[in-house]
Amino acid sequence: MEYLTIHAGASYPVIIGEKALSEISQTVRELKPAVTSVLLLIDEKVYQLHQQTIKQHIQYDSLFILPQGEKAKTFSVYEQAMGEALEAGLDRHSLIIACGGGATGDLAGFTAATYMRGIRYIQVPTTILAHDSAVGGKTAINHPLGKNMTGAFHQPSAVIYDSLFLKTLPLREIRSGFAEVIKHALIADPEFLEELLTGVSSLEKLEPSFLQYALKKGIQIKGEIVSRDEREQNIRAFLNFGHTYGHAVEAWSGFGEKLHGECVMIGMIYASLLSIEKTGLDFPIEQFIKWVKSLGYEISINAPFEELHHLMKKDKKNLNRNIRFVLLKAVGQPELVNIESSELEYIHQLLKRKEEIQ
Ligand code: NAD
Ligand code: ZN
Repeated sequence: MEYLTIHAGASYPVIIGEKALSEISQTVRELKPAVTSVLLLIDEKVYQLHQQTIKQHIQYDSLFILPQGEKAKTFSVYEQAMGEALEAGLDRHSLIIACGGGATGDLAGFTAATYMRGIRYIQVPTTILAHDSAVGGKTAINHPLGKNMTGAFHQPSAVIYDSLFLKTLPLREIRSGFAEVIKHALIADPEFLEELLTGVSSLEKLEPSFLQYALKKGIQIKGEIVSRDEREQNIRAFLNFGHTYGHAVEAWSGFGEKLHGECVMIGMIYASLLSIEKTGLDFPIEQFIKWVKSLGYEISINAPFEELHHLMKKDKKNLNRNIRFVLLKAVGQPELVNIESSELEYIHQLLKRKEEIQ
């Protein structure tokens, strides 16, 4: 078992490993002021697959099963979750437990952030991607006009990350989540990147102990950045490496068609090529592309540049209509740079040509 502490808002523990869930009761008992009642919000699929384990370890007074994945992040489900909390009589000292992937965590976190102007919640992430979303306190639901456009910063009281859940995760979800692990290495830690490059030759056969190590590293990196900039005034934006082009790819494909991490990987290759042009990043991009392809990632998208460009202009990082990119000066040294449209188009074409690399 691994224990970390995140210093954002009040400090909170992250417990990672097989059997982490056996520590949840004690974690809840130790919260001050004492918890009066618990509402468990859980992803439908996770409940189906892991009901026994949940019942064995999580003590709750009321339960609301959320629609699977992204379908939970709607105004309608938010209203239902609020209704459940009210009917169950949650008060200011009650607790919400979020058990599921990033979508569950975002919906449950937003419910906790807004119920009676804010009650506590604990994240029990069940996907690899959620090593990223469970830490840092960003919560949100989607609006028909934009993803994550209604939200709040609200840090959890604890994160209990039991690797048992990951055993039922489909390969595509593993691949999607692992892209964010690679992102954490690229923006913060050249040695960790090297360990990934040499240690991971297949996502089907990820060694559980190595996966646990990689998730811990990813959480540490994210936690460190968030503790220095909780509300994204400056360096927290570095966590968006790969996300400017990546989000455009995700929106263009129709949310859910391509998974978030699959799009972020395309965005990271794009941002690396742009970095090589703009900041002089010295990086063996062709070797990196070969590696990610061998892990089953796609590295480009067959979309017209104008349409992606239009989508990139809506990015939350932009200021004064300039498109701002997180680039790398070196692995582990990100920076924010404004980019002209003509340069963006050039890299878009260059990326398509890299598709030929085997
Ligand atoms: P998700 O929550 O949609 O889960 C993906 C799918 O996996 C769902 O169908 C779910 O039912 C299923 N699933 C979950 N756990 C499982 C398990 N153990 N076994 C089998 N199936 C399981 O997706 P995600 O990739 O975890 O998270 C994506 C969401 O996270 C997006 O909404 C994104 O906006 C959000 N996000 C938030 C932050 C943040 O800082 N708040 C950061 C990154 C992403
Ligand atoms: Zn992401």
